[in-house]
Parts: sequence; C-alpha cells; structure tokens
Amino acid sequence: FKIPAIENEPMKSYAPGSAERQALAAAITQMEQELPFEVPCIVNGVEIKTGSLAKQPMPHDHARHLCTYHEADEATVAQAIDGALAAKAEWESMPWNDRAASFSRRRILSLIAATILGQGKNTWQAEIDAAAELTDFFRFGVKFVEELYAQQPAKNSSGSWNRTEYRALEGFVLAVSPFNFTAIGGNLPGTPALVGNVVVWKPSPMATYSNYLVYRILAEAGVPPGVIQFVPGKPAEIVGQAINHPSFAALHFTGSTFVFKKLWKDIAMNLDKYKGYPRIVGETGGKNFHIVHKSAEVRNAVLQTVRGAFEYQGQKCSALSRLYVSSSVWNGGFKDQLLAEVAKIRVGVPTDWSNFMGPVIGWPAYEKILGYIQKAKDAGGEVLAGGTGDRSKGYFIQPTVILSKDPKSVTMVEEIFGPVVTVFVFEDADFEKTLDLIDNTTEYALTGAIFSTDRKALITATNRLRNAAGNVYYNEKCTGAVVGQQPFGGARASGTNDKAGSVSIFYRFVSARSIKENF
Ligand code: GLU
Repeated sequence: FKIPAIENEPMKSYAPGSAERQALAAAITQMEQELPFEVPCIVNGVEIKTGSLAKQPMPHDHARHLCTYHEADEATVAQAIDGALAAKAEWESMPWNDRAASFSRRRILSLIAATILGQGKNTWQAEIDAAAELTDFFRFGVKFVEELYAQQPAKNSSGSWNRTEYRALEGFVLAVSPFNFTAIGGNLPGTPALVGNVVVWKPSPMATYSNYLVYRILAEAGVPPGVIQFVPGKPAEIVGQAINHPSFAALHFTGSTFVFKKLWKDIAMNLDKYKGYPRIVGETGGKNFHIVHKSAEVRNAVLQTVRGAFEYQGQKCSALSRLYVSSSVWNGGFKDQLLAEVAKIRVGVPTDWSNFMGPVIGWPAYEKILGYIQKAKDAGGEVLAGGTGDRSKGYFIQPTVILSKDPKSVTMVEEIFGPVVTVFVFEDADFEKTLDLIDNTTEYALTGAIFSTDRKALITATNRLRNAAGNVYYNEKCTGAVVGQQPFGGARASGTNDKAGSVSIFYRFVSARSIKENF
C-alpha cells in the first residue's frame, strides 16, 4: 500500500502587473459591483429563505455590507438535523473513493475576493487561507483518511482473520466555524464528512458569504444534498438546538475558549439525552509568545515578530501577543529596528495592495482591543507604537507595541485578538527564569517561537516549555502552520489538541469496529 506524494497548493505572488493580480482585481471589482448578495440557508440541497434577515458588514467600510443572509430558525435547524440523519446511510456506505472525489477542488477567485471584502484580509493573507490552506485541507484530508483506513492494528492468528473498520459516528456532527479563516470554515464540516459523517454547519456570522461559497464549491463538486447542511444565523440558538438533539454525536469547533467551555458544560448536562458520549473537538484561544535569546539573529527576530503579531491584524488564534526579549538584544538594535519596521506598516482598505494591515473584524472587536490598550496604559504600560484607532469608515487599529515592566500585566496574560503585542525585557542571565514565567503566565498553550543561534538554548527552552504550546517554531514566527507539515493545535485552554492538518483529527470522527472471523 503506497499513497502517492501530495504537494501543498503553491501560493501565488500577485506580482505587480501580473495576470493573476489583474484577474483578482477584476474579481474584486465585480464583487463590489454586485454586492450585497443574498444568502439562504441550504438544507437537503434546497435553499431556504426564512425571512429573518441579518447583514454581514464589510469591516473596512461599515456603511456597506457584503451580504444579507437568512438566519436559520427553529424549524430550519430541525429540518437540517432530520435531513442530515436521513442522508447518512447512503453517504457512509458510499465507496470511499467516491466520497473523496467530492473534496478535490480548484482555486476560485470569488472565494478569495469574498475573504478580502468580508473578513478584511489583504490579498496575501486571503491567498494563504481561501486558496492554499482550504485546498490543502481537502487534498491532504483525502490522504489522511486513506492512511486511517489502512491502519489495521489487530494481528491475525492461524485460526482467525481480524480487521478494523472505521465507522462514521452514530448521529450528526455539529460544526461551528470562526470568522478568521475561510479554510477552517471548510475544514470543520469537511473533516467529519470525509469519513462518512453528516454535518450541520453553523458558519460565523462575520464570514457568512465566503463560507456560503465554500458550501457551494463542495456541493458542485458532488457532496450530496443533506450531507452538509448550511445553517447560518444566531449562534447561541442554532448551537443550543443542535446540542439538545438526541442524535447529537460530536462538536467540531473553532472559536473562543469561553464559548467552547460553555458548550462543553452544556453538552455534559445533556448527556442522558444522547445515545452515546459525544466527541468534543475544539481549537480555541491563544496567548502566543516569542522568546528572543541573547544569541538571536536580530534582523530575523524583528521581521518575524512583525509578521507574527500584525499579519491579519493579529486575528489568528496563533498570533504573537507576548514578546520576551533578552536585554542585550533589546538594547542592541532590536527595539529600534522593531519600531522602525512597525512605523512602515500601512493600515487601510484590504483591496489596496500596498496595505500590510486591514481592519479588525467589527465593532465589538474594535472596542475590546482599544479597551485592552487603555487597560495596559492604566497599569503603567508604555505604548511604544500605535495605540490608536479610527472607526469613521472601517475598524482600523494601528499596530501597537506596549512595553510592560510587569510580566503578568493584563495584556501579557489575556487574549486580545488584535494587533497588539506586549513586550517584557529580561536580563540576559534570566533566560531560564523567563521560560518558567512563559509557562506560568496564561491559561493558554497554543503556539510559541524561540529565537536563538545557540542550539543549547533551543533545547532548554523546548524542554522547559513542554506544555506551553502545541506548535513551536525555531527562529520563525509563531503563525502559519501548513497542512501536512505542522499539524496544528494547542492544549490547556487552547483546545483539545487534535491537530488539524494531520491524520490525528480524523480518529476523533470515527468509531472503530473490530471484526473477527474464524476459519
Ligand atoms: N493555523 C493557523 C496558523 O498556524 C491559525 C489558525 C487559527 O487562527 O485558528 O497561523
């Protein structure tokens, strides 16, 4: 048994004057002319217009909205669950290769455009997400499922033949996806569906349009009606109804730690209603770190720090938000170079190719982020760069660097989910003490990076921070895990660490059956 090599989707560079840049610009212009779009719920392949309408505003221009969508009401959600359960038998018994075929896809310009306009990503961030990572999730997903199915842990004996079969879960999976990655929107329903599950998918209200396009791509590629039910709308109501259903079998979630914990508790309270013990798979918050050792290569550490903290406005779960720098490095050029690089960052509409940063996702996020900056100031933090916002047209916040003398000040501890990095400078001799500090400062353990040219320091840090991050990088920023290369996920309050982008996560959505046959 040999699985052919599968490559990651190559990233386009959109060089000035290139045909790919022109094509994307044209797709964006066309989308801007045609908006707002109307998005229905889709249940059993049929569009449902509930008439209860909500808007997905554009973060860079809140006077306009990308789409108006029909919020799923109770009857629609009930129909989605019933329809999914009815579609299950045929889907799970379909030959695996036929199921897999529906998850091969081409890159689609309108999906990139929708991610730019609706979620405020610049072109390259949208390319990473809606073109490359989404494709990789499906392409590698097929390979991972082949690997899973090939696993036969049992041995045969002279008198018996044993095999293990990986069944879909009994019931339906609820997928609850976030705004910040269109790719995760596709992956949360896609992963369980690949192994034969049926999925009720509630996308983020702030990513409704791009997620609707993902649904359409899958449907056009052949995912049969009912297998994935697209039910946008009010999160608490839809999710509440789904987890109250006796056939609820699993939650596949990416979002905040607070919501995930609440859902876990709600599911526990419902346990007696269900046929089985639901699988709960979640990727939640982070308070991700860089530590810069005295031996670090300064230029690289600075550039990686800027990218880790400020790409996509710091709205990746993996984004850098606490930075620990050795004092000789900080005073020996790091600080000056960091501030010089941050000063160069252009913030503005995501459709302007020269903007490194776009808007934050919306009004509550804007308020929350500026609120944290104020709290940092109140606690004696020194704002070295940024600290201000402008919401007259869209929700723009300047890249912000705060220097804190207190390593446990509020912005060193709590997740902000915005373009804010807090710096703590430590004495060169305190490297190991600082590792303990990193380990004990927050409840999260998602990503982290260690900058050093001294192998011993890398090893010490990796060992000391054994439980402080699920994804660790040496001399590179703490964001940007690639499917099939760096399985992604964290532990502690950051999630169940089931590793999206690897075979591991597929085990969570199957229930194995061992079959013995006597000769
Ligand atoms: N996988 C992404 C990364 O490594 C982050 C995903 C997320 O924000 O949930 O940057």
